Amino acid sequence: EQQSLIHAEKLATVGQLAAGMAHEINNPICYVQSNLGTLRDYLNKLFGILELSDQLVRDREMTPEQRLDALDMRKQAADYQMIAEDLPALLEESREGVERIRQIVQNLRDFSRLDPTESFRLFDVHRAIETTLDIVRSLGGGRIRFATYFQQLPLIECNPTELNQVLMNILVNATQAIDDDGAIEIHTELSGDHIGIRISDNGCGMDEATRLHIFEPFFTTKEVGKGTGLGLSISYGIIQKHGGRITVESEIGKGTTFVITLPLRQANHGTEATS
Ligand code: ADP
Repeated sequence: EQQSLIHAEKLATVGQLAAGMAHEINNPICYVQSNLGTLRDYLNKLFGILELSDQLVRDREMTPEQRLDALDMRKQAADYQMIAEDLPALLEESREGVERIRQIVQNLRDFSRLDPTESFRLFDVHRAIETTLDIVRSLGGGRIRFATYFQQLPLIECNPTELNQVLMNILVNATQAIDDDGAIEIHTELSGDHIGIRISDNGCGMDEATRLHIFEPFFTTKEVGKGTGLGLSISYGIIQKHGGRITVESEIGKGTTFVITLPLRQANHGTEATS
């Protein structure tokens, strides 16, 4: 039943992400579409010119009409030669656009895949952070600066799907806490047999009364439909299961910092006794 809650929360987050994704995908789609139109016009014109020149080769004698057509074509061909010079750049831009769309879809698919049987394995925390950031960046709509400060870390023993979900919950909250311009910073560090992940935003922050309840299930200050109040309680459970800790510091008007510490190795390999 814990799994189905996690699943519900994950679907809710995916729903929130979908609008941002749609927006980000729309941009490359528009210019790929426009570039394809340019390419099609160019090819049509090229075929027209080829056909006409074929005709000219076949019957040497031109009617006055054909002659006018030919002159006109020749003029247009000069214009199209200029377009032709832009084509490699247009095609490259389109290729990059399609690649970007593929990446976005891939990220979303990675994230929404729920694999409850996935167990603890050695995993690169920085990769989890980068993948999550790549998705979340689109939510910020360019108004938020993201910065990462990574210390060299070894692989840690964790459940990657769950770790992704924790990062996603905290980062989505952080983007929602920022009204206009803002910044989100992520620091990582190694200390002894633990790693630390510190995620800070300079958003609205929260008062003491709110801060005391954020890890409780269904506690939310967001309007209906915007928040489930489950993200942080699930994150708390996941970090506990990993033998780690999650804490928060926050100040109204200044911002919020979540600190996660995780052991490098699990004492009781992937047993789910605590869930
Ligand atoms: P939800 O986001 O659905 O409300 P969460 O459990 O993720 O549920 O968060 C609970 C509450 O914690 C939020 O409604 C909000 O009041 C508060 N909160 C979480 N992260 C932040 C943050 N970065 N800045 C300010 N408030 C936050």
